[in-house]
Amino acid sequence: MKAHEYQARQLLADAGIPVPGGIVCDNADQAKAAFEKLAGEGATLCVVKAQVHAGGRGKGGGVKLVKTADDALEAAKTMMSKPLVTHQTGPEGVPVNKVMVAAGVDIAKEYYVSVTLDRARSRPVMIASAEGGVEIEKVAEENPGAILRQPIHPLMGMQPNQARTMAYQLGFTGQQVKQAAAILMKLATLFTKLDADLVEINPLIVTPPTDEHPDGQVLAIDAKVTFDDNALFRHKDIAEMFDPTETPASELKAKEFGLSYIKLDGTIGCLVNGAGLAMATMDIVKLHGAEPANFLDVGGSASEEAVTEAFRIILDDPNVRGVLVNIFGGIMQCDKIARAIVAAATNVGFKVPLVVRLEGTNVEPAREILEKAQSDIPTMQTATDLTDAARKITAAVPAEAA
Ligand code: GDP
Ligand code: MG
Repeated sequence: MKAHEYQARQLLADAGIPVPGGIVCDNADQAKAAFEKLAGEGATLCVVKAQVHAGGRGKGGGVKLVKTADDALEAAKTMMSKPLVTHQTGPEGVPVNKVMVAAGVDIAKEYYVSVTLDRARSRPVMIASAEGGVEIEKVAEENPGAILRQPIHPLMGMQPNQARTMAYQLGFTGQQVKQAAAILMKLATLFTKLDADLVEINPLIVTPPTDEHPDGQVLAIDAKVTFDDNALFRHKDIAEMFDPTETPASELKAKEFGLSYIKLDGTIGCLVNGAGLAMATMDIVKLHGAEPANFLDVGGSASEEAVTEAFRIILDDPNVRGVLVNIFGGIMQCDKIARAIVAAATNVGFKVPLVVRLEGTNVEPAREILEKAQSDIPTMQTATDLTDAARKITAAVPAEAA
């Protein structure tokens, strides 16, 4: 599950990481009032930021520095008037329902720091770079040597010497080292405490020197946190942060029925059991020249009702020109899928070609059910194996549509 920046900033602030104050707003008038409030507390500069579950806002017009309340109002109005397009959203963009007005800061240098899971080493890893800011993806691609890594012991957590080493490697000097190392330690602790998949500060910044802070101040001015869904049951407060407006309706519906569904841009709807098999099915569809319309894992224990709903979700997608069912029945029983196909044919209707490949538990009764239903589902073909299935579905869907 993803959180908005304003929620992530709060989690960081609660963990003792210095984050400039911000106010989340539902409309432009609130943004104006927020500027006035922050100005009353001493801010001379504010930043208006679109609150969407996508990064790259800075380059897409979703982050704007403002110096007056009227500019805050205008910036919020412009941002909320149209979908925000960034390199992470796709060309249609995402609606901006909320903005945050935060106290702005002067920046001397931007850094990148995050903690995520290193699956190869089976432990968290801190990733950091002195080349932080909006170009971090480019740095990772073009100058991978500028990316630092520190594995974190799963039980002992990050050690103070690791944090100090990293702070020095990043080039912090003087008083900054202590500040940065403390932030790194807190970020590593937060990752574990939240059962997060990712905690990221980009940019972590240092402010220019002042009389009060001759070495500048180290602050987090952007924050991103994604949570491990499997652990949300023990974080009720975090589960409540879920924003359904950021998730496509079809994915919300799937979640309700316990299905893992992710909508994609292609034309071949895929209904599969098991995440690995779902990935393999998507690969083979691509190998045969078509694009999958979705990832869908119905899992091992889905009810017939849930599988019928899965077909409804796939068939409701106007881009779907063909459906490929690929089931390897282990815990899942093939006859359950066959009955769901019949139910979906009755309740929704297969107007597009359907190719079904079933193997495993209860495959014989399943085949009988499908044979009997064949005359009612004229677009249905059965396949003997995965390659046969991919060939048949791509042949049945006209090339220009696939
Ligand atoms: P993102 O592009 O979605 O990651 O949004 P960020 O919050 O990281 O903002 C993008 C960029 O805007 C940052 O890398 C900064 O360069 C700039 N920015 C954001 N907040 C401030 C601020 O308070 N002051 C200044 N000077 N620049 C800021
Ligand atoms: Mg950022």
